[in-house]
Amino acid sequence: MNCHRAGTLVPPYADGEIGGFRRYSIERHLRSCATCAAKYHDVLALRARLRAEATYFKAPPELLTRVRALLADAQAATPARPSPQPDRWRWLTGGALAGCAATVLAWVVGSAVVDWRANQDLAAEAVAIHTRAVLSDHLIEVASSDQHTVKPWLSARLDYSPPVRDMANEGFALSGGRLDTLDKQRVATLVYRYRQHTIDVFVRPESTRAPSTLRTVRGFTIARASGSGMDWLAVSDVSADVLSAFVQRLARADVSQ
Ligand SMILES: [Zn+2]
Repeated sequence: MNCHRAGTLVPPYADGEIGGFRRYSIERHLRSCATCAAKYHDVLALRARLRAEATYFKAPPELLTRVRALLADAQAATPARPSPQPDRWRWLTGGALAGCAATVLAWVVGSAVVDWRANQDLAAEAVAIHTRAVLSDHLIEVASSDQHTVKPWLSARLDYSPPVRDMANEGFALSGGRLDTLDKQRVATLVYRYRQHTIDVFVRPESTRAPSTLRTVRGFTIARASGSGMDWLAVSDVSADVLSAFVQRLARADVSQ
């Protein structure tokens, strides 16, 4: 075994993923080659540091479900196995394919975690804005149940025009609107009354298709929907099913005007 071959095998060997003759060969090489042995010890040291210093958080069940769904998608998208090839080619391409699969897996899991974190942060930020607005005198900047008053007021202060509609006939009376900063962006907030509850709906242009998610943060429900080219995020202390149905209804194309 030469140093080049040993170099590619050091990380999987350190992870205990290599057996049989290859294991025997690399062990023999590491005993006789100081350079590769040093590389091997670097890998072990890095792994120990990651274990000791990395930040861990307990993954919630919904993240696990999402990762499983993504993995199932990735598996479905993997092309069928190629027809049998001579052994030497199988040997060479096997390593490359395993490397690709590991990269894809890392990317899939990594982006699921990033998405989940972003969603968590957005929900927490929305709840903070909502509670601050309800507790202060800053709930409404333009007080009107008339969508023809609220919409122009918001549009004049933003670089987009949020769809606005009073839904009093369905129990959700438009009280007015205000401007907020959500996710580092100026956004329109529509304020509705539902029985004794206040509902804030943050409306902003859709950048990527927002997942229709529902979650609870500090006792508040957050429901999200996509539609009419907008990302709709509603926060309130009403029940999850009511809020979810309401935000879906708002986001539906026939509602926008
Ligand atoms: Zn070597």
